[in-house]
Amino acid sequence: MKTYQHYIDGAFVDPVEGEWFDSIDPYRGEPWARIPRGSRSDVDRAVAAAKRAMTEGPWAAMTASARGKVLRRIGDIVEREARHLAEIETRDNGKLFAEMYGQTRYQPEWWYYFAGLADKVEGAQVPIDKPDTFAFTTHEPVGVVGALTAWNSPLLFVAWKCAPALAAGCAVVIKPSEFASASTLEFAALLKEAGLPDGMLNVVTGYGAETGAAIVEHPDVAKITFTGSDVTGARIYSDAAKQIKRVALELGGKSPNIVFADADLKMAAAGAISGIFAATGQTCIAGSRLLVQNSIREEFTARLIELAKSAKLGDPMEAGTHIGPITTPPQYQKVLDYIAVAKSEGARCVFGGNPATGEGVKGGQFVEPTIFADVTNSMRIAQEEVFGPVLSIIGFEDEAEALRVGNDVIYGLAAGVWTQDIGRAMRMSKGLKAGTVWVNTYRAVSYMMPFGGMKRSGLGRESGIESIREYLETKSIWISTSKDAPENPFVMR
Ligand code: NAD
Repeated sequence: MKTYQHYIDGAFVDPVEGEWFDSIDPYRGEPWARIPRGSRSDVDRAVAAAKRAMTEGPWAAMTASARGKVLRRIGDIVEREARHLAEIETRDNGKLFAEMYGQTRYQPEWWYYFAGLADKVEGAQVPIDKPDTFAFTTHEPVGVVGALTAWNSPLLFVAWKCAPALAAGCAVVIKPSEFASASTLEFAALLKEAGLPDGMLNVVTGYGAETGAAIVEHPDVAKITFTGSDVTGARIYSDAAKQIKRVALELGGKSPNIVFADADLKMAAAGAISGIFAATGQTCIAGSRLLVQNSIREEFTARLIELAKSAKLGDPMEAGTHIGPITTPPQYQKVLDYIAVAKSEGARCVFGGNPATGEGVKGGQFVEPTIFADVTNSMRIAQEEVFGPVLSIIGFEDEAEALRVGNDVIYGLAAGVWTQDIGRAMRMSKGLKAGTVWVNTYRAVSYMMPFGGMKRSGLGRESGIESIREYLETKSIWISTSKDAPENPFVMR
């Protein structure tokens, strides 16, 4: 078993209190790495290093263009190490190697994009309405950033958060999920070679309630950027509010994937299947509520069952596997509990619905890909995030009903629309309350495209030009060129 250390101030160090915990390989169901259990003292060290690095270290003195070059080198090195990083992620979270490798190979684009943006953070000269005054704005780094990430795509979230944060001039302390910390530490090991100054990116591992909470509560952390569940997000939001900390939250979803009768049904069926069974359903943007127009509901359900039958469960490292294990024991139990809830609510299980057994899945936490028909929107299975391979099919009559049911949920992360009618595509895109709407595609992301949630799915956006603003404060500077004192100093100018 490999024993990891925290990465603080450019060096790998043991946890102050000398405690570690095991990380479990979800496919084999056995421990494979020892992860440091971070304490408040470890967080103190990391935040102090980050604060020092961003205020006294070379990063602040470097030109923005020079900082951009370092970010480019990080991208180059991630590209070179993409296979190794993906292997670590698959080992740790059990998601398909094909998916994790796709992600690690794509991640350099975030580093390149924000490398290019680093020297394009421009203020403005304001043609101010006061005589003899020169007024302009600047954008300054918000301060030390605490980044708390989920286990499903650890390094993707590191790229989404750290590339813009570093480009903006902020130092970062990352705490990855206790269920999948190894890849973030392996990534940290590459930063020296890229030339990132010590202390600019630190990794402290540990449990949410201990290490994570210590980051949120630390007075020298100015901003929290969090990816995880809405329950934890709400808690962090309220903890951060005590110090009026800036917060960005990327939370869960219960996304409607809406299929109209006029869609290309072959494409829509493939989109529906990939929307829920890719990543074993362990994705915030899972299209877990499949709304199907009543006139094609039966035929479309039959198509889905045919496709689902072809899914091969097994070793996530193997190219032929479609569905891997559920990552964590609590998550495994939660998925099975939701299947039981759906059955007791009267949803009709038309495919799967059990723990998966047999050759190739022993040891791990496997659930059969599961499809429920006759789901009504008030059922818990239609409203609550399962975060597993469980699809709910809900019927609708017309566009108005699709929109009403689609939006009738507390979340607003993403939505899909399948139709050949451009007018309908435009009307639905406008009407759906979701941060992302995909038409005739699903689960596409890009470094160029803002990503984030409406409603209970979060606050703020990642990726795209505007996301760098998450790590900047605007300062307004007024310079009077007047030689005369004001006539009445007791009133506002
Ligand atoms: P989680 O909320 O349990 O944990 C997320 C992170 O927060 C972990 O690092 C955890 O250790 C930490 N944490 C937990 N309690 C904390 C506390 N009190 N203070 C500070 N930190 C704390 O989420 P998870 O189970 O790791 O991830 C699954 C969830 O993430 C799902 O709900 C999913 O939809 C969501 N998610 C959202 C996005 C997105 O971009 N919107 C992406 C992926 C996953």
